[in-house]
Amino acid sequence: MIAPDLQTGIARLRSLVDGAARIVPFTGAGISTECGIPDFRSPGGIWTKMAPIPFDAFLASREMRDESWRRRFAMQDQFGQAKPGRGHLALAALYTAGKVPGLVTQNIDNLHQASGMAPDDVVELHGNTTYATCLDCAARYELDWVRQRFDASAGRAPECSGCGGYIKTATISFGQAMPEAAMQRAQRLTLGCDLFLAIGSSLVVWPAAGFPLMAKRNGAALVIVNRDPTEFDEIADLVIRDDIGATLSPFIPH
Ligand SMILES: [Zn+2]
Repeated sequence: MIAPDLQTGIARLRSLVDGAARIVPFTGAGISTECGIPDFRSPGGIWTKMAPIPFDAFLASREMRDESWRRRFAMQDQFGQAKPGRGHLALAALYTAGKVPGLVTQNIDNLHQASGMAPDDVVELHGNTTYATCLDCAARYELDWVRQRFDASAGRAPECSGCGGYIKTATISFGQAMPEAAMQRAQRLTLGCDLFLAIGSSLVVWPAAGFPLMAKRNGAALVIVNRDPTEFDEIADLVIRDDIGATLSPFIPH
């Protein structure tokens, strides 16, 4: 069913949420746009103007590693202060109420954790851009640490002080393997839920796009909240093509 208007959609969503025991939200860029973080993949988005740096290029060239960090710090200056939006807060409230055992996200912005969800309960399919790791020994580095060295060396990417390996944001780049553990946790959550909420994702990026279908085939109800149509709208129990913040704000406790 495609909600004919926002109020009908919210009422139907409320009844599905009330009737569900285990809700698994799956979120994409759309939930963070009201926080000022653009959807890189959208038409006119950053990636249509400036191609992302593939993983093999990052490994192969110092210039690409320097460029990668230069772009990251430019982003930090623009979006580094972003705060959770109404969608994040609504999902965090359902989590606090014990309705949401865990959440799966394509986002790398850390805003679900910032809204109060335990990091262990946020499954990040594309990693996290708010910290960095050594690609060889997996040591964690904070962005401030990287930036101090980057600025002090006139824009050169620092290397791991423990092993000399390359340091990269903890994101999954194009051409980099999907994180196996995160994929398995996402699958477990999906197969364990009775309500799957796909929010702000165009559901076109595989393998992530397989989860709504997996949930539906396993007997869960499927709700899609997204501005634009998706290819799973036909099998969804409820589709709300409206603003995510407006759709989810009634679920934030007052
Ligand atoms: Zn290292």
